[in-house]
Amino acid sequence: MTEEHKHICGSIVFKCIDFRLQNETKRWLSENNLSGDCDVVSIAGSSKGLSDDDSAVVRLLMEQLQISHDLHGSKEVVLIHHSDCGQYKKSYNFKDAEEEKLTQITDMKKSEEIIKKHFPDMSVKKVWAQMNDPEGKAVDFQIIE
Ligand SMILES: [Zn+2]
Repeated sequence: MTEEHKHICGSIVFKCIDFRLQNETKRWLSENNLSGDCDVVSIAGSSKGLSDDDSAVVRLLMEQLQISHDLHGSKEVVLIHHSDCGQYKKSYNFKDAEEEKLTQITDMKKSEEIIKKHFPDMSVKKVWAQMNDPEGKAVDFQIIE
């Protein structure tokens, strides 16, 4: 590839397909200077299939990571998971919202380990999107350490 065809961006974002989160996610990406500087992968449950070791999803997500890393020089992976996620509710019967959040945070940490093993030069940012209403009109985004 010649240099003039090389396009660089900072990050690759994994987020859920859920339409209710789209407007607020767009706002958060913009506020964090990621708009126009990130590749975006939308898949039900975000990185859930990666932490679950679902081979089809692992293959798909790893391929997207490889392309973003090699072609766009991405240095950071942003995992966005959200409350009231249909893909999680398919697999679990959470007793409350806190249990759902903790389960998803554990999964994001697992995904982080997997990503760092394959892409040691990439950093991983874990983000929890807490919906304040069922329609997703207001969402609070929290960085998970
Ligand atoms: Zn979801």
